[in-house]
Amino acid sequence: MKNLMHYIHSTFNYMIDCDAAKFADNARLSLLTKPVYNVYVNPVTIPGYEDNYEHYCKLTQKALNEWSAVINNKIKFKVQNSMMGADIKVYWRKAKRCHAALQYREVVMWSTATGEPIKSVLAVNIGIMGLDDEPYSDEEIYHLILHEFGHILTLGHSPNREDVMCAGGDWNPHLTENDKFVLRLIYSYENCSTFQECLPDIEKKVEKFKNNDKEKDKKSVNHKTKIKYIPHDLLNNLEYIEDIVKYKMALQGVKLDDATTKHFTKPMYLASEIED
Ligand SMILES: [Zn+2]
Repeated sequence: MKNLMHYIHSTFNYMIDCDAAKFADNARLSLLTKPVYNVYVNPVTIPGYEDNYEHYCKLTQKALNEWSAVINNKIKFKVQNSMMGADIKVYWRKAKRCHAALQYREVVMWSTATGEPIKSVLAVNIGIMGLDDEPYSDEEIYHLILHEFGHILTLGHSPNREDVMCAGGDWNPHLTENDKFVLRLIYSYENCSTFQECLPDIEKKVEKFKNNDKEKDKKSVNHKTKIKYIPHDLLNNLEYIEDIVKYKMALQGVKLDDATTKHFTKPMYLASEIED
């Protein structure tokens, strides 16, 4: 659970530095606040991959729906193929595995008077192949989309390798219970809350989550035990079952053909199977 607290703390520090050695307790949440965000998916410009556009749009929408569902669609994303009214832009890139994707702010308007940036939008780069032209698999691309949009939703990094929000972890294409828990947690707070303010409630909810997990573990152990022992019992009983079948057949006066008789009279049926 120490790792889960790290994940949560990193999320509160997302706007400052989610990989800092020491997190600030007064860092504030910076949650998304609109009910719908328009996501402009840029064309694929890598030669030979242009036709994957529709496919990548679908992958993106699927990943975004998955995140939205975690918070009961409080925030939704709408993938579009036009820049009009876009809040977020997605680009497809060639990228090294260690920097396969990136989330940043892209300036879209500068002041003519001062040259200073006056408008920016959220942007995401998703790697679809390595620098060696080795394409990433759909599962890997899906993971990268989930990860970067986790950041868009202002999640920080998790130290658990299997979490989608781990930087350079297992590239899991499925949101974990941790990922879902942390997203639900932060969206249960007011925007701009600090870690310190929320800490008593966080500790309570983490404790509850941890206990639920233990319950689930217990159930899955029981489940495994059953699966393990049923075949074992059946194997032990197989010879008796055959005896019962033979007895029933004898009662009914069923005559066995040669092959069946041979099978039933094979000495040490089970042992010989195992020795082979
Ligand atoms: Zn990241």
